[in-house]
Amino acid sequence: MNPEHIAQNLGLILARIAAARKGAVKPAPFTRLIAVSKMHDTAHIRPVLDAGHRLFGESRVQEAQAKWGPLKREFPDIELHLIGSLQTNKAREAVALFDAIHSVDRPKLAHVLESECARAGRSPELFIQVNTGEEPQKAGVSPREASAFVAEVRALGLKLRGLMCIPPAHEPPAPHFALLAKLADEAGLPCRSMGMSDDFETAIRYGATHVRVGTAIFGERD
Ligand SMILES: *Cc1c(COP(=O)(O)O)cnc(C)c1O
Repeated sequence: MNPEHIAQNLGLILARIAAARKGAVKPAPFTRLIAVSKMHDTAHIRPVLDAGHRLFGESRVQEAQAKWGPLKREFPDIELHLIGSLQTNKAREAVALFDAIHSVDRPKLAHVLESECARAGRSPELFIQVNTGEEPQKAGVSPREASAFVAEVRALGLKLRGLMCIPPAHEPPAPHFALLAKLADEAGLPCRSMGMSDDFETAIRYGATHVRVGTAIFGERD
């Protein structure tokens, strides 16, 4: 996709977010756009930076380090969120690079993040991933386990901010967004990371604070 087209897409998505918030009965106090740049190179990312956008999402630690190390020197106010699963052996790099991690999904990872945050003196904001569809192949705690895991992560003194979900691919997403919103409310967590290119407007109706949009901005990934 050419740079002009990418910048146009960004503008359209921001306008659709604003319209969806206006049309929502009870939108969250804010909805932030995470531009998901995974598998897109710097040439695709630059038009989005040039348009003034600063919040990006990546799925893999190594890919993000390679791409964003240099860009962060040029644009120090970039905010980077990790949206893909995190292996414990990459936790140190993740804590150093990312401003938020949306994929906290098991006690072992929470404990490793606690020691890495203490070591680095740096604490990314955390989201617990909930497997709202209880899909066996998908990461995330089950909805039943969510409140106990929230308590465990809180007890570690980590900066827990919200919950995140990826609804099953072939189901209407609304019930999953509603469930995530309810679980976040019950846990007293302010943030809900939900909604992607195909369903972010629905997610906003259910109170999304962070929507993660890749394809609708950058085009198809190879
Ligand atoms: C890739 C990805 C997205 C973006 O998906 P699009 O359909 O390209 O908008 C959002 N969230 C997660 C967790 C992803 O891995």
